[in-house]
Amino acid sequence: MAKKYLFKMSIWLLLFIPILTTHRIADAELSLGDKVPYSEFKKLIQDDRLEEVVLYPTTVKGILKSEEGTKGKKSVTTVRIEDPDLIKDLMTHKIIFSAATNGGWSQGLSFIWFVPMIIFLIMMMRARRGAPSAGLMSIGKSRANLYVDKDTGVTFDDVAGVDEAKEELKEVIDYLKNPGKYQRLGGKLPKGVLLVGPTGTGKTLLAKAVAGEAKVPFFSMSGSGFVEMFVGVGAARVRDLFAQAQGKAPCIIFIDEIDALGKARAAAPISGGNEERENTLNQLLVEMDGFDTRKGVILMAATNRPEILDPALLRPGRFDRHILVDRPDIKGREDILKVHCKNVKLSNKVDIKTIAARTPGFVGADLANVVNEAALLAARVGKESVEMDSFEEAINRMIAGLEKKKKVMSKKEQKIIAYHESGHALVAESVPGADKVHRISIIPRGISALGYTLQLPTEDRYLLTRSELLDRLAVLLGGRVAEELTFNEVSTGAQNDLERATDIAMSMVREYGMSEKIGPMTFHNGRRPQFIDLGYRAGRELSEEVSKEIDQ
Ligand code: ADP
Ligand code: ZN
Repeated sequence: MAKKYLFKMSIWLLLFIPILTTHRIADAELSLGDKVPYSEFKKLIQDDRLEEVVLYPTTVKGILKSEEGTKGKKSVTTVRIEDPDLIKDLMTHKIIFSAATNGGWSQGLSFIWFVPMIIFLIMMMRARRGAPSAGLMSIGKSRANLYVDKDTGVTFDDVAGVDEAKEELKEVIDYLKNPGKYQRLGGKLPKGVLLVGPTGTGKTLLAKAVAGEAKVPFFSMSGSGFVEMFVGVGAARVRDLFAQAQGKAPCIIFIDEIDALGKARAAAPISGGNEERENTLNQLLVEMDGFDTRKGVILMAATNRPEILDPALLRPGRFDRHILVDRPDIKGREDILKVHCKNVKLSNKVDIKTIAARTPGFVGADLANVVNEAALLAARVGKESVEMDSFEEAINRMIAGLEKKKKVMSKKEQKIIAYHESGHALVAESVPGADKVHRISIIPRGISALGYTLQLPTEDRYLLTRSELLDRLAVLLGGRVAEELTFNEVSTGAQNDLERATDIAMSMVREYGMSEKIGPMTFHNGRRPQFIDLGYRAGRELSEEVSKEIDQ
């Protein structure tokens, strides 16, 4: 660690060197002049060549009388020696003289030197103590990364479709509002609340809303913001964050993407970067154990990967409350759309229920995006209010990306794509278990889709049956089959379909136990799961035969 530390410091010093050297050179030309022996200096006085003299504690500077032909004033410096006659000489030769408390050689050591030197010293001291350096970063980046909001202004009305999470969080709000009430009988307030759910479902928004409802300050930082390139900075930031927050209690500390620093310690191979992350994580654990809930500081964190978190974080007394913030269902989507449509001028023909039905799988952030995009699209074409077709286009953009009208395709390609997409649509309409076809397009969109067939479920689905999955496989293969039947040849266009079909088929066999031959067993990533540990070592490789059978 010490080595790395020194290396990093030297990088910092390198950053300063250009400033230092240029400063040095400029200084020399301006004031230092030629260094001369004291005897020569005295001679300059005797010869009446000096115009002015400045006496510094350890040096003497003499400014020469300007001579013909030379530009500007030259100066000389010399080391000051005990010379009782100096002042007398200066006076007899009528040289202006003055004294200055600082300068001469020490002038080279002026202000600009001090900044890096002090930083360097602080770093050295901290390195000695084995403690991480906060000095540097608190001068630099730390503040920018820590985000404090005295009043978030967000309330529960701004968050929709997550009623259960809201219900659970109401308790936390109450704790923050009257910490005394709950401790009356000796109970300890919860310390940490972990919000778990996919990105964009409103975890950050919820945390802000809790702060807003309780009217307490909101401190937030991102887990990845803690893990920095400077060793020890992460831990220092954690300390800093808690110190600041405790001073403002009651309040909420929110750590987004906590998985970035809270990854299970054993899960990752040992390397430099992990060491730093671990230090940060350890500091977080220390702070969590140390802080006093009586003051009403509540820690909230968000992650979409709870399974990779270090178990130490989830222990009682730490993040022991877990709240699921899941993708919204159709009713939830409707409510979220309503929140975001509040300030949008909608045509009275817009039916929010229909939009909610067309956006299965969308999270709050997607829906906010759809509303905004629709409003912009409508404004672009000069409409008075936002109509349904703008929403339709906004949804398509979200699903498939921007239309690429400029991407020119040959007639032949367009024909292939048309047949391909029709193949998907035909199969989808003719098998019982497939979702309804909503739209077929051969206008290229996004990065890779040349055309697409959009099917929409009539309801949200949480379970799929075996026959429904088989129907999905059929629909996915429909495009390629259509190409084969029409052109007697296949193209590269089916690549993504095949990828998804392979995924589904593999999952059916390996995870859902839907293969008669293999039977009801699971093989995650081609490995036996650990919990069926009947004499097998955990994570044992599959035998050759079983792998082969799965593939078949
Ligand atoms: P997360 O933290 O879960 O990734 P965010 O809270 O950052 O999600 O959500 C991003 C944005 O999406 C929010 O600022 C808000 O505009 C919108 N949003 C997300 N979820 C909801 C929701 N449940 N209700 C209303 N708006 C939401
Ligand atoms: Zn296809």
